[in-house]
Amino acid sequence: VTDIEFRSDVSVSEVQQTGSDSLVVAAARVSTRGLAEDVSEPLSARDAGLIGFLMWNRHASPFEHGSLTVAVEAPIFVAREWMRHRTQSFNEESGRYRELKPVFYSPEITRPMVQVGKPGAYTFEPAEVLASDAELAVAEVARHSWAWYQDLLSYGVAKEVARNVLPLATYTSFYATANLRNWLNFLSLRSAPDALYEIRQAAVEVEHIVQAHWPASYAAWVDNGRGQL
Ligand SMILES: Cc1cc2nc3c(=O)[nH]c(=O)nc-3n(C[C@H](O)[C@H](O)[C@H](O)COP(=O)(O)OP(=O)(O)OC[C@H]3O[C@@H](n4cnc5c(N)ncnc54)[C@H](O)[C@@H]3O)c2cc1C
Repeated sequence: VTDIEFRSDVSVSEVQQTGSDSLVVAAARVSTRGLAEDVSEPLSARDAGLIGFLMWNRHASPFEHGSLTVAVEAPIFVAREWMRHRTQSFNEESGRYRELKPVFYSPEITRPMVQVGKPGAYTFEPAEVLASDAELAVAEVARHSWAWYQDLLSYGVAKEVARNVLPLATYTSFYATANLRNWLNFLSLRSAPDALYEIRQAAVEVEHIVQAHWPASYAAWVDNGRGQL
C-alpha cells in the first residue's frame, strides 16, 4: 500500500472565537454597576486587577461568556481522552458514514518511551532504540490493517464494520467548542506533566490561542497556579 501517511502531531486550529477580557470585566461588574455600555473597551490596570481578584477567589462565572471553537486532527487515542471533557461540545467525522483516511500516528524518535514508576506517579524517559521498535510496529500494523480495511470495503462490508480492523493510531477529526472557563480547566489537566504526551502537545496549541484572545485572564490563571476553576 503506497498511500499511507504517518504523522506525529496533533493539529489544533482556531475556527471561531467570541468574547474578550473586557467581557469578563463587564460580566463581573454587572453585579454592582448594571450593564456596560461597551464591552469592547481596552482593559485598564484596574480591570486587570479585577480579573486577578476573580481568579484568586475562584469567582468563575464571568469567565464563561467567551467562547472558542477549534478544529482538531488527532489519533483516536487522543480524541478519546479529549472527549472526556463533558463540558465541551463536539462533532466528529464518522467511521460509519465516511471512508476513513489512511493517516496514522507514529511516535517521534524523541517521544519519551520508557515508563518508570507506578500508576499515578509515572515518569517517562527517552529510549531511541525502543522508539524505532515502536515506529516499526506501528507502521506494520497500519499497513496490514489498512489493507484489510480496503479489502473488506471492496467485498461490500459496511464501513461501520470494516473500520473495526483499524488501530487506535488512526487519525480522526473533530470540532471542539467550550467557554473560557472550561478551556482553562482543560489546560489545567492536559498541560500538566502527568498528562499524556500527545494531548499535552495539543494543549500547547490551545494555550497559545487562549493567551492571544484573553491575555489578562490567561495571565491571572497562570499567576494563580494554573489550577481548575
Ligand atoms: C492525567 C490524567 C489521567 C486520567 N486517567 C483516567 C483513567 O485512568 N480513567 C478514566 O476513566 N479517566 C481518566 N482521566 C479522565 C478524568 O477522570 C476526567 O474524566 C477528564 O480529565 C475530564 O475532566 P473533568 O471531568 O474535570 O472535565 P469535564 O467533564 O469537562 O467537567 C468539568 C467539571 O464539571 C463538573 N462536572 C462535570 N460532570 C460532572 C458530574 N457528572 N458530576 C459532578 N461534576 C461534574 C466537575 O466539576 C468537572 O471538573 C484522566 C485524566 C487525566 C488528566
